[in-house]
Order: sequence, then structure tokens, then C-alpha cells
Amino acid sequence: MFRTRFAPSPTGELHIGSVRTALFSWLAAKHAGGQFFIRLEDTDQRRYVPGSARRILETFDWLGIELDGGPDHAMLRQMKTNEDYPGALEDGSYRGIPGPFVQSQRLSLYKQWAEWLIEHGYAYRANETPEELDRMRKEAEARRETFLFREHMRLRTDIDPSQPHVIRMRVPCEGVTRFHDLIKGDVAFDNALIDEQVLLKADGYPTYHLAVVVDDHLQGVTHAIRADEWLPSTPKHLLLYQYFGWEPPLFAHVPNVRGEDGKKLSKRHGATSVFDLRDKGYIREAILNFLALLGWAPGGGDEQNVFTVEELIQKFSLDRVGSSPAVFSDDKLDWLNGVHIRRLPPEELARRLQPFVERDGIVLDTPEKQDKFRRAVPLIQERLKTLTDATPLIDFLFQDIPTPPQDALIGPKMEHHLSLHALREARRVLESLPIFEDKPMEVAMRALCDELKLKPTQLFTIVRNAVTGKSVTPPLFGTIAILGREVALERLDRAIAVLSH
Ligand code: GLU
Repeated sequence: MFRTRFAPSPTGELHIGSVRTALFSWLAAKHAGGQFFIRLEDTDQRRYVPGSARRILETFDWLGIELDGGPDHAMLRQMKTNEDYPGALEDGSYRGIPGPFVQSQRLSLYKQWAEWLIEHGYAYRANETPEELDRMRKEAEARRETFLFREHMRLRTDIDPSQPHVIRMRVPCEGVTRFHDLIKGDVAFDNALIDEQVLLKADGYPTYHLAVVVDDHLQGVTHAIRADEWLPSTPKHLLLYQYFGWEPPLFAHVPNVRGEDGKKLSKRHGATSVFDLRDKGYIREAILNFLALLGWAPGGGDEQNVFTVEELIQKFSLDRVGSSPAVFSDDKLDWLNGVHIRRLPPEELARRLQPFVERDGIVLDTPEKQDKFRRAVPLIQERLKTLTDATPLIDFLFQDIPTPPQDALIGPKMEHHLSLHALREARRVLESLPIFEDKPMEVAMRALCDELKLKPTQLFTIVRNAVTGKSVTPPLFGTIAILGREVALERLDRAIAVLSH
């Protein structure tokens, strides 16, 4: 069973680069017909941010990434806040993956395995105070050395296990720890340069290094896919696997995401979380497509850029993930978003647009307004880059418009009196149309152009300005048909009045 996990720390909003890494893990697992789960790594209690665990889970939910395991309702409730997430299970396991999925719920396991390491000679107790360690670090710096803790540096060896202390791993002074990373290739670390890392802290919590190894092993992770900042930690993990006699997973360290200026992606670059993107009108299909392309490409001469989730699952493979940082391009995201918006069925697009137009003050609280909105959506679908683009394209259908100024009502290369005459004639034509629909309206208005010897743009420009108050709109006659005869005539009357003065 191919099994991957995403192991975020609930320390704040999920960074978009982390979501990209999680997406790679999910795609790799699903491509192989395997499983993907989430484990919350909340062992650093000082950095815990209430509410962030829930936000993390909501992010995956919103993206439509289904989990084969993750923190459940009951566990989250036991955490520091009354978080609530409809999830899984009573016994802590899910779909064959042993839980719990929150590290603070697994403390006894880490303690047990840390003690095992001591019994077997792979770890030892130490109790240097932070001040003592700080002094040692400064002394090393003064000698221009990197500070690495080694067993012989212990200040006390007669440590009473019932008193506060930490447990540190032993690291051989010689030799090299090597492994093959699925993205970075062959990697080697000198054991002499590996710190004798604290595994269990004095507060009984494990450090990341112990917890990640114990959990990945017990939860059957076959591929550990994570950010490349963890690459230097991997030799420590491999030593622990070796001590325990466990088979390590395969490792894939994914490069980070940068802004277009080459700097690590941050708030300065705009949206940094999936929810920021959602609120700016990006749709999940585009976000998933865009994130997948941050570091991955199908390769083999395949130039395809637009993918559905199913296509991503089918085509994704870790060996096509590049080893250099990916660049977050706003233009590409906008372009992909437009493409995926055009692919949505119009009813679905209407459903997704509604909260955005309502946020802008267009309240669709009657069946008539709902109907107008549903008819307008196909007319604007082609023109949207984000869901926030809709309101200015359709607001005049739902709200009154200010009376346009005279010069907006005088057509290109037209005199005042000719524009006035054209508007009066347009009004007459619209009033007498037997059916107030797009096609017959266009035929009649084009005939009027011929009659008045006007170019279509001349007539349509003034009609558009008169009826919508805008110089750019979705297709004109479709829009006027939705607006309805009564309102259209009333707006034409106002425009005629403006020109008559
Ligand atoms: N808790 C670590 C993080 O937040 C997980 C690293 C890993 O996936 O091993 O990045």
C-alpha cells in the first residue's frame, strides 16, 4: 500500500507552499491507488495557535481533497479550544491507518520508544539548563565552530530519571549517512556533523525528530514527501530507523515556492493561504491545477497546462518534480482561473458567483432576481478572470443607474441631433418588438442602423450607454433582454430627456 501523509503543525494559517507539498503527497498516493492522511504535529505547545487545526482541515475540505485519515472531532475537542470538525472515528483509527492523528494524543508512544532507545544504548538522559547550553554554544561560536551536542559534553551523568531531564539520541562520530531522495537524488551527510538531537523534552513532549519517525513507521507511511527545509534532518531520522530496526520510508524533499522576485513567498506577495485565494475569487479547480504546476510538469514532450483533478491524478509522478524552487506567477493563476471558470457548467458558476455579488451588495432575494442572475451568468462567463469580476459586469441589471452625461450619449462621429434621433428611433423599435428577446432585437436594431445609415458601433454605443450606464458590457442585446422592456424604455427615456435639453 502506497501511503503518504501531510504533517502540518497547527501554528497558524497554512502557507500556500505547504498546501502545494500536501497536494503532491495526495496526488502521488492517489496515482498509485494508495492512501493519504493528515497528522497534526502539535508537539511545540508554545507555538500552538487555537483554531489553526480546524482551518487546516477546512482547507482540504474546501479543495475537495479527501482524507483517508485525519484528526477527528473528538480529538480536536480535547485540544485546547472547543474546535469542532465532522470527521471520523471512535477508536482513533481510520481506513486501516492507526490513529490518533494528533501528536499530543500519542505522548505515551513517544515516551515508550525513547526509553527503548536508552535501554538499547542508542540514547541517553541529559539535563543541561538552557543557560548552560547557551554558554556552550557561545564558546563554540568563539572558536568559530558550529555547536553540536555530544555525549561527552554532558555536565552531569548521574541523572535521576524521576527528575526533569531530556533524552538525546546517540550519533556515531564516524561514517556517512546516505540515502536516495526521490527529488534531490543521492544525498550524503557526515555523521560527525549531526547533532545529538533531543528526542524527548523535559515536559514529556517529543521533538519533531522522534515523533515523525515513530509515527511514520507506526502509521505505515511508505513515502515521506515534505518541504526541502527538512532535508538536513533526514539523516537523524534514518539513524533512528536504523536503531529501531525499522524500514525507513522513501523520502522526497520538495523545493519551496518563491515569488516572482525570487524571494520566498510571503505576505508581501499577496495571497499566502488558500482562503486568501478563495476570497479573491479563485476557484478550487484552478488553484489545484496551479499548485500542481508549482514544481511539477508532465514532461515527455507533453505541453499540457490545463488539468482536471482526475488528469492530475492520472499523470502525476514524483520523478517529474523539479529540484529547484518553483515560482508563483499571478498571471498564470489568473489565466488558469479564467480557463477553469469557462469550463464550469453555468448553473454551477452561478452558484459560486452568488456570494461574491452579494458581498458587493447585489442581493438576489427574489425569484425574479435569481432568474435574471441565472440568465446573465452565461453572458459573462467568457469574461471572468476571477469571481470578483462579475459584479461590475451585471450590477446595472439589479440596480438603478445614474443618468448618463450628455457626451456619453453622443455617438462616435455623430452630431447631437442625430444621436437624439437615433435614440428615439431605438426606443420606438424596442417598444414595438413583438418578442423582447436577444435575436429579434438584434435583427431589428441592425435594420435600424441601415435605415439611419449608421454603423452598428455608432448606434450600439449610445444605446449601451443609455441603458447600462457603461461603455463596456456583456453582449448588448442579451443584456437588454434580461433587463426587460419596461426598464430599458424607462432608461432610454431618461437619456432622450438628457439630449433634449
Ligand atoms: N511538522 C512538520 C512541518 O510542519 C512536518 C515535516 C514532515 O513532513 O516531516 O513541516
